Amino acid sequence: MITRLVEDKAKALATSAELPAFVYDLTALREHAAEVKTALSVPGGPEIFYAAKANPDVPILQALAPYVDGIEVASGGELAHVRETLPDARLAFGGPGKTDRELELALELGVERIHVESPHELARLARIVDAAGQDVDVLLRVNLAGDRSGVALAMIGPFGMDPDLIETCREILTASPRVHLRGIHAHLASGLDASAMVRQSAEILDWGRSWLDKIGHEGPREFNVGGGMAVDYGSPNDRFDWKQYGQDVAALARPGETLRIEPGRSISVYSGWYITDVLDVKQAHGQWYAVVRGGTMHIRTPVTKQHNHPFVALKGSGGGPQVTDQAVTLVGQLCTPKDVFARDVSTESIAVGDLIAFSMAGAYAWNISHHDFLMHPKPTFHYLDA
Ligand SMILES: *Cc1c(COP(=O)(O)O)cnc(C)c1O
Repeated sequence: MITRLVEDKAKALATSAELPAFVYDLTALREHAAEVKTALSVPGGPEIFYAAKANPDVPILQALAPYVDGIEVASGGELAHVRETLPDARLAFGGPGKTDRELELALELGVERIHVESPHELARLARIVDAAGQDVDVLLRVNLAGDRSGVALAMIGPFGMDPDLIETCREILTASPRVHLRGIHAHLASGLDASAMVRQSAEILDWGRSWLDKIGHEGPREFNVGGGMAVDYGSPNDRFDWKQYGQDVAALARPGETLRIEPGRSISVYSGWYITDVLDVKQAHGQWYAVVRGGTMHIRTPVTKQHNHPFVALKGSGGGPQVTDQAVTLVGQLCTPKDVFARDVSTESIAVGDLIAFSMAGAYAWNISHHDFLMHPKPTFHYLDA
């Protein structure tokens, strides 16, 4: 499953002593994004806004731009960065705890939709647009209780408003003619397969339509039903069924409604690789370890998700310690037992000098990691284009 492009690059980087390295296959990213776009391009199909927080690297954003309808940003920092990188992109701005300064920035930089997370935020936004003499379009973010069992991550916490709290927004909206309610936003969970995602989208639509009807909302309506499309690190070839989701969610849309999604992980994760080499192989208290250059300070993903990170081993020239036909734990250079990439994985053999290419490193990897811990050298970064 490693692409020729990435494998050749890995070997070249080993020769030039540039490991560890993050290598991104932009061609593969474009192909994947084009497939997703095609799957969603059915009548009534949702618009797609890429969630920048998954991976906001400039070459990633630029490669994705032709295949997405816009970008979702979750902070003033992301907002400024994405606006500078893609001056014409349509933007949506979500996230809890937006400051006044961030809301002002959203007006200055031409955000198309603000996803409002609380009545207090809505009231502050209303004051800011009044002072600026500007109008703003908002979606109210709702947090529906529902049953989220079986998901990778339920968005339990201060994300959006539960149906009781959202009632408070009615008065604020009535008193604020410059704030235009366009519809409802919800991002309820991560790790849903296509049919579970369709059911969740339907739940949001049902609730949203009836609430908008109840408050007498008129005109076209938008429903942003969030991201969280499943990514399976244990089975990298099982991908979210975009075709089924596209068809089934499009069938839910009614005339006058725009649906929108904002996936991150499922878009960029497959295009990135963290490539390193084995520095040592040894046994400790019966357990075999392979120590690789770098560590989870560069790619925190296996620690946060508590999984075995998928990888491909490429044979080196050998000659050093090795282990054959044993379960091996892959660790990094950090002085903590938590620095584990994969525990007890079976490999035919693993030897000092082998290259280890961790796949699925294109999302929530480098950018969520505690880089400076132990002051090892930073990885090098490479964006490959065929
Ligand atoms: C993180 C996030 C997303 C993207 O989630 P993925 O699991 O990466 O698809 C979308 N919307 C909101 C509000 C988020 O916080």
